Amino acid sequence: MEVYGADLDGIEGQLIRFRATVDVNRRGAALLGLARKVVREGYARAVKAIETLDGGWSDVLADQGYTIDLEPAETPKTSSGLDLPIAIMLLQASILQNLEGLQDQIRQLGEKQRQDAGKRPSSTVKKRILEQIEELVRQRERILRYRKALQRNTRKYLLIGKLDIADGSISPPYHGMFCMIAAARPGFTVVVPEEAEVYASIVATHNRNITTLKAANLQEVWDVILGAAHPRRTRKSVARAKRKVMTRHVPDLRDIRGVARAKRAMTVALAGGHNILLVGPNGQGKSMLALAATRLLPDLGRDEMFDLNKIYSAKGDLQDNEVVLSRPFRSIQNITAPALFGGGVHPPVPGEVSLAHEGVLLLDEINQLKPPSLIERLRSTLNDRVQRVQRVYQTLTFPCNFVLVAAMNPCRCSWYGHYICPVCEERFFGSDAKCPSHHDARLQRKCTCTRREIEAFRSTLSEPLLDRIDLKVFVSSFDRSQGDPIKYASATIRQHIKAARQIQQERYAKAPFGTCNASVPDRTQFRKYTPPLLPRVSSVLEKLFKRIDSLRTQDKVLLVARTVADLDSSRTIRLKDIKEAVDLMGIDHEYFRGLPE
Ligand SMILES: [Zn+2]
Ligand SMILES: [Zn+2]
Repeated sequence: MEVYGADLDGIEGQLIRFRATVDVNRRGAALLGLARKVVREGYARAVKAIETLDGGWSDVLADQGYTIDLEPAETPKTSSGLDLPIAIMLLQASILQNLEGLQDQIRQLGEKQRQDAGKRPSSTVKKRILEQIEELVRQRERILRYRKALQRNTRKYLLIGKLDIADGSISPPYHGMFCMIAAARPGFTVVVPEEAEVYASIVATHNRNITTLKAANLQEVWDVILGAAHPRRTRKSVARAKRKVMTRHVPDLRDIRGVARAKRAMTVALAGGHNILLVGPNGQGKSMLALAATRLLPDLGRDEMFDLNKIYSAKGDLQDNEVVLSRPFRSIQNITAPALFGGGVHPPVPGEVSLAHEGVLLLDEINQLKPPSLIERLRSTLNDRVQRVQRVYQTLTFPCNFVLVAAMNPCRCSWYGHYICPVCEERFFGSDAKCPSHHDARLQRKCTCTRREIEAFRSTLSEPLLDRIDLKVFVSSFDRSQGDPIKYASATIRQHIKAARQIQQERYAKAPFGTCNASVPDRTQFRKYTPPLLPRVSSVLEKLFKRIDSLRTQDKVLLVARTVADLDSSRTIRLKDIKEAVDLMGIDHEYFRGLPE
């Protein structure tokens, strides 16, 4: 048989081949292959757990040393899940050793008997020596039987479990159980602790060429390997699975007051995978909109769900049969680089950008984000949609394809763009607002900031980061444009988004960059995959691009317009799609373009 363990390598499980030999002349174990402290302690746990086995196995181990080799040799091993394969390797090696050891003992006893015979021993001494020889012969028979059983066993085992020193029970390691099971190759027999049955059955459904068994303790695993106990298959049912709670209460779009334009912007953002910036005072629905977004996206596909479970397992966020079944929502504010991007040691774990994979990342007060190095890294994360973490031995890659919902106040007082009726003191959003009760009253600005103050506040927002955010809209519950509540029910919007994403998936099925409009890298690729522009649209774009300096922004107009058209199932981009794209991108908005003197 072959014995493998698994360790964590980013979000992937790395297979580790185990080999062991016996060293008669010393005691203890030498673990080769960069076994870190937790794995060396695993040897001590394994020895203790072997003491709990029936049949005096710890006597068999005693008084000899072992060399255990973990392959590949170059990568550090850090998982407590390697306890179980270490214990099995010790037992296997001791069986091979003991054949000779027992023969030695039998020979010594025989010699003693002959020597004693010359001294005319009493019959009780003779009897005792004979009994000792008989016991040793029986043990030898037993070991021979086990040896045969092991030789007959041609399976490849992937064994994962941390051992309890008191009773030999096995439990999953804290990090990466799911990833480690997923490391199994076709033909493998994977043995997992009972607590990880759900993960094993999910992996077995994904990879039908593996056998997954569950076990309670070292005794059961050893008996199964020796053929002395019936293996227990993991059940395909996921009845024991617990849905991992990804969000608190998710509001329905219909229940968020007003903000019809922001809802439309959110629809476009989610349909095309565009990042979006929501600008407005606190408590006006920015976070609510971001929360609602997770339920507007289509259900997770099978592969998407599989990857998400790997990410959460590697982070140590899946315990007690928890399974990720829905899209994540992560909210960050005041965060350190390792927590945001991933990192740390023993093992390096994914950060918030990866925990938001296939879901929504809310970055509140984006203009307060510091230091500049953090912004620079976030910029490349948004660009690449994968997060690379440098290690001494290798570079880890964590997936992070999320929709960024950024939020900020527009100015220090936060009421930029709001007006107030001098008669009834009712608040309104937009300079063209009118108080319905006092038509003649001239509304007054609610914002108390000067032009210079507003511009200073806006410039705290990093331009390079802003450049990565396609849509920019204002959110205010005082925006009286309500929109049709049925049209803006989450269930309706979800259908539109699903249909638009379906169109994009078909369009970019063979593309190397992803399956959303937002992931198209440049104009050349855009032309390659999308229908040609109508001449009328081309000439309007030509004029428009004359006043947009950034090539990147020009490209984004095309991509956002494409998404707007996809939401309408329109094959070609129409003039109104361009118009809406320009509007949702805030290109002509004075707040982003520069306030008038
Ligand atoms: Zn009024
Ligand atoms: Zn203000």
